[in-house]
Amino acid sequence: MTENEAIKVIKRLIGVSPSERIVRAVNTAELALKEIQQYRAIGTVEECREARERQRGKKPNAWGDGYDDDGNMIYDMYDCPNCGKSYEIDYDNYKYCPECGQAIDWSDLE
Ligand SMILES: [Zn+2]
Repeated sequence: MTENEAIKVIKRLIGVSPSERIVRAVNTAELALKEIQQYRAIGTVEECREARERQRGKKPNAWGDGYDDDGNMIYDMYDCPNCGKSYEIDYDNYKYCPECGQAIDWSDLE
C-alpha cells in the first residue's frame, strides 16, 4: 500500500462528519505519510551511501597477461574496483566507470 492509498483509506474510514479530534489526528497522519513520500523520493540511506562511495575515487585493479623481454608483466588492462568490468589501459582510461559510475583514481598509474 502506498502512502496515497493509506490516506484515501483513512479518509474513507472516518466517514462524513468526523469530530474535530479525529480530523486533527488524520491531518497529523497525512503529514507524516507525506514526509515518508519525500524521503522515498530522495532514496534510502543505503542508496545515498552507495552513491557517495562511487563518487569517491578508488584505484583500478591493473593487470596484464603479457610480459616484456625482461620478464616483467605488462599492465595493459584494469578492472573497475566496484563492478569488476575490464578495460584496456591507455585506451579506456575512464574517470568514471561507464558500467557502474564508480570514480577511478588514476594517481598511482600516471
Ligand atoms: Zn564499474
